[in-house]
Amino acid sequence: MLRDLSKFLKVDEEKENAIQDLLFKSQHTMLRSKKLVFDEERMEMCENLEFAPFTKFCPKCHREYPMDENVCYECLVALKDISEKTPIHDIESKPIFRFSGENSLDDFESIFCESNVEKVNEFNINMNDLEKIIRNIKLTSLRNLDELINDNYVDLNGITILEKVLLFTKTFVNVEYKSYGQQLGYFEFETVTIDDRQTASLQITTMIHELSHFLLKEILVGVLCKLLDCASNRFIDVIVTYVLAYSNFTQLIDEYSAHCCEGRFTVYGYQDYSSFLNIIAQMDGEMSRDEIEITKSIGNTFANAIKDILEIFIDRDLREDIKSNFLNYHYESPNYEMLKLENCEMLTDEGFLKAIWLIISEGFAAAGENLEILNDYLEEAK
Ligand SMILES: [Zn+2]
Ligand SMILES: [Zn+2]
Repeated sequence: MLRDLSKFLKVDEEKENAIQDLLFKSQHTMLRSKKLVFDEERMEMCENLEFAPFTKFCPKCHREYPMDENVCYECLVALKDISEKTPIHDIESKPIFRFSGENSLDDFESIFCESNVEKVNEFNINMNDLEKIIRNIKLTSLRNLDELINDNYVDLNGITILEKVLLFTKTFVNVEYKSYGQQLGYFEFETVTIDDRQTASLQITTMIHELSHFLLKEILVGVLCKLLDCASNRFIDVIVTYVLAYSNFTQLIDEYSAHCCEGRFTVYGYQDYSSFLNIIAQMDGEMSRDEIEITKSIGNTFANAIKDILEIFIDRDLREDIKSNFLNYHYESPNYEMLKLENCEMLTDEGFLKAIWLIISEGFAAAGENLEILNDYLEEAK
């Protein structure tokens, strides 16, 4: 019977419409209200962010905290204010490298006395002494690094490759920035100046290059202090600066060594080869081709000693990062012509000691005859 009624059914359009409307409306308003809640939540989150920024950090795990927090319960340590963290770029360092000795030779007169000239020529130094000098430099750099990290709450995992190299550079020298001229950077009297307008990869290579100049100088300061059994001071420093600058021979060693260090930690074939090509050009027949190659080999041998120092921080991982970062910026192919001319020889221990003897004994004698220049350097170094 019920079944029979079915043939009498029809759609109540009015009601249907009304219900459809309702369903639609409720759905619509529900959606709207949901959206509203969501937006409000977001607004609230934004407001929280705006009014409670992370102004504190944990000095141990370096996690950041809002200002109303006081403690990192994971590390069980009180939080520090973020203003106590200095950006690596602005960290000031005045690292001091010291060699000790019995004599304190505090003027040129006492340094260049006859018995000292004899000591230099006798050259009583062996590989063991050289290793001690290098160890001393490493130790001072690492102590400085430790101090810089602690004093400035540096998070090594939270800084860029450039900042890592910059921080490491600051363990050796004072770093200054320039924003003028073509020169990428230079090293002068315990200060490396870099152009911080340059790309990160160019700043990194420049720092490694200039750091190599500093380290070669510092190794020779160690050698001279050992020979004269004296403590290092600004007079010894100025003499070594002179020794590395007065002749094409020592300039070429210094420049080729820096060039090799730069290549070692970035990629060979991309450096500015003019740094040592200019020196060779100005020699004008002063040295035979073979002599120039041996001089480059001396530079290469120094570069290996310097590399050993740089690796206390620039380990394989960081080096790979530096290299890939460098290649990201340099799409051009390396300078194949110059790569063919790279000197890939180095001296034996015995040969290295003989080379250092040559540099120091000839240079020391020349320095002793040019006190005026040394005094000028002394003024500049102030
Ligand atoms: Zn923590
Ligand atoms: Zn250079």
